[in-house]
Amino acid sequence: MYNAIICRYHEIAIKGNNRNMFETRMIENIYHLLRCIDSIRVSKVRGRIWIEHKDRSRFSSEELEVIKSQLQKAFGLESFSPVIMTEPALEALQEAVSKSCRQYFDKAFESRQVVSFRIRAKRSDKKFPLDSKQIEIELAKVAGSNYDYDSLNIDLENADVTVWCELRQEFAFVYYETIRGPGGLPVGSNSPVLALLSGGIDSPVACYEIMKRGCRCDFLTFHSSPYTPQDTVDKVKTIAGHLNSFQLPRRLFICNLAPMQKLIRDNCTPRFRTVLYRRMMFRIAERVARRHKRFALLTGESVGQVASQTIVNMATIDNAANMLVLRPLVGTDKNDAVALARRIGTYQLSKQQVPDSCTVFAPPSPATSAPLFKIEEEEAKLPEWEKLIEEIIDSIEVCEC
Ligand code: ATP
Ligand code: MG
Repeated sequence: MYNAIICRYHEIAIKGNNRNMFETRMIENIYHLLRCIDSIRVSKVRGRIWIEHKDRSRFSSEELEVIKSQLQKAFGLESFSPVIMTEPALEALQEAVSKSCRQYFDKAFESRQVVSFRIRAKRSDKKFPLDSKQIEIELAKVAGSNYDYDSLNIDLENADVTVWCELRQEFAFVYYETIRGPGGLPVGSNSPVLALLSGGIDSPVACYEIMKRGCRCDFLTFHSSPYTPQDTVDKVKTIAGHLNSFQLPRRLFICNLAPMQKLIRDNCTPRFRTVLYRRMMFRIAERVARRHKRFALLTGESVGQVASQTIVNMATIDNAANMLVLRPLVGTDKNDAVALARRIGTYQLSKQQVPDSCTVFAPPSPATSAPLFKIEEEEAKLPEWEKLIEEIIDSIEVCEC
């Protein structure tokens, strides 16, 4: 019975001159998310986004299912409601309420003998002959007409069923439910970033969090072939593919760190290896980002989680890149990251155990405090590492996931 979806978004985020850009991005994203539904039109009408079939026909229940689940990925969306759009006339509204309310009442009657309801009408066309109160009364008569007088109550505060109705100059509509969207800002409304994506739990969650703030993510993953298997890369490809379902798809850069790890293994003190690897990862990431005009890196680091994430080690690693590094999970507990990973569908993909590049030649007890001067002494032992970085970057593979 629904022939349109009304989408609401945060006014605060889209104030001022940028409003148009935010709305355009959101419309583009919704088109992409709903691309599997035929002949759809997404348009902006007075601070709301509307989704309809081009011919204004009804959505099938399958289409509605798809819309409800896909709009959960439309960042920037505060809430949305499937609506019955009609002519801006009382008779049309009465017919819409009469046809649609039954299923909501019947559902409420499944768990109680007496059902309370209310009609909430809003009228923006002040020339309409009835005011909001009068519209509510007329629609309440229709809604109640199918049931015994004793089995329905009107309750203006805590009704079991609320019939929402809005009357505008050009059209009117009726709806029953408001579904929360994911919030945030439309992905693509801020500059893209380069995300360091491992097969772990945290980095995909970090990507989600930053996409939700409007940044598209390109992905960079490190493997250590032949010391890590092809599964390591395949797993990250799958995760990147899933993350791409939240944005217009971006690329995955696949980089073999093994030659650098061997150089570090052969020349440096074992307990500093992890920090040394990670500084090289950051250097490579910065160069890849600059080459592709990305202005920030992103990681899933969280203070204190592992040896390389102590404050001293993070400071030393951070120093290797002369670029903004975003760490959305810096203060997040692992349990909370896991909960979010489950919600966004990456947990199942991440929990599969495959070897990670960082653990190749890993020492039994990595340093938890590797100050910069110490690490600079270690790096001074590495012959021609700058040249090796260039070679490694030249051999990066690019994959569309
Ligand atoms: P995750 O669960 O994301 O793997 P983690 O808790 O295992 O994180 P680390 O392995 O120390 O922590 O990695 C910290 C961050 O460094 C990751 O979140 C990710 O951004 C980046 N990183 C680690 N390994 C890789 C890799 N092989 N390729 C790309 N980035 C990586
Ligand atoms: Mg990891």
